[in-house]
Amino acid sequence: MKKIHQLKYICPNTRFNVTLAPYTTFKIGGKAWALCEVMNLKELKDLLIYLTQEQIPYFVLGKGSNVLVSDSGFKGVAIRLRGEFEKLDSKDGILTAGAGVNISYLLRYCIKNGLSGLEFLAGIPGTVGGAVFMNAGAFGGEVLDKVEKLMIVNPFGEVILKEKKELEFSYRRTRIDKGAVIVNVWFSMKLYNRKEIKKRISFYIKLKKQSQPINCLSAGCIFKNPKEDYAGALIEKAGLKGRRIGDAEVSELHANFIINKGNSSASDVMRLIKIIKDKIKDKDGIELEPEIQFIGFD
Ligand SMILES: Cc1cc2nc3c(=O)[nH]c(=O)nc-3n(C[C@H](O)[C@H](O)[C@H](O)COP(=O)(O)OP(=O)(O)OC[C@H]3O[C@@H](n4cnc5c(N)ncnc54)[C@H](O)[C@@H]3O)c2cc1C
Repeated sequence: MKKIHQLKYICPNTRFNVTLAPYTTFKIGGKAWALCEVMNLKELKDLLIYLTQEQIPYFVLGKGSNVLVSDSGFKGVAIRLRGEFEKLDSKDGILTAGAGVNISYLLRYCIKNGLSGLEFLAGIPGTVGGAVFMNAGAFGGEVLDKVEKLMIVNPFGEVILKEKKELEFSYRRTRIDKGAVIVNVWFSMKLYNRKEIKKRISFYIKLKKQSQPINCLSAGCIFKNPKEDYAGALIEKAGLKGRRIGDAEVSELHANFIINKGNSSASDVMRLIKIIKDKIKDKDGIELEPEIQFIGFD
């Protein structure tokens, strides 16, 4: 534990034994050894070097809107990007965003500055870093289509710039080196009419409210869509809407969402995930692949 306690000398905003549930949209999950809120690049570099040297496990926690943290928590350090990483800037249609910026703030900035291209992200409750790592998408758009360049820091504290042509990405995943942290993102945007951008964003939010339980506790879509089908449609056809284990329930509105009705544990969610996977495998012969990231389950 001594090694962990040194962290506050590297990152002053470190707290120990922190319950992660409040930092996730599911509001589920146990404690991490520490939660480090890094404010600038130097702090992040020093932190990664230390964690790598001392072989302390870590992961980046954005808004926690696509993760399920285990009931026993995470034996390691959760890193949040704050301060310098929550800034936005733009010039000549290139929008530069820190990875800790909230998507909702990003979209408000886009409206204010007449920058079009990312409206499809409306209603996604994540950060820029999380959206890039997950290659978040909706309404036919995907984040990586708009990314020009990324700045990442690898586990040895080295800063690396990745141009678009070097980026490997696919449906709901961007490949970056293991343990690397996305810190800055350059988006290629179109200059456009502010009112129109606002209108599109409001339209997407309206559609999202109609089709997804966005006011409930969830982690978004649990499964990736299999080729040529929708996970939600398969789960609905299998009659699993409303299926409940403890306080975890398959949403009545969108069957690819599991909702925490109040006091769900991660193990309730895991049991429900298994029921869904087994049923779809039996019925349709399809192996559903989770979209959500599992933290602390190994
Ligand atoms: C109501 C609701 C609706 C949603 N709708 C959509 C939707 O329409 N489309 C969609 O694609 N998703 C959707 N999601 C899922 C989720 O919001 C997105 O995947 C979002 O982009 C995740 O961002 P986050 O900051 O919350 O990431 P987190 O959940 O905190 O993290 C997700 C993964 O990204 C990694 N990560 C986060 N930041 C970084 C970083 N800076 N560097 C390296 N790795 C990082 C984490 O370690 C983790 O593995 C929805 C979720 C909810 C709750």
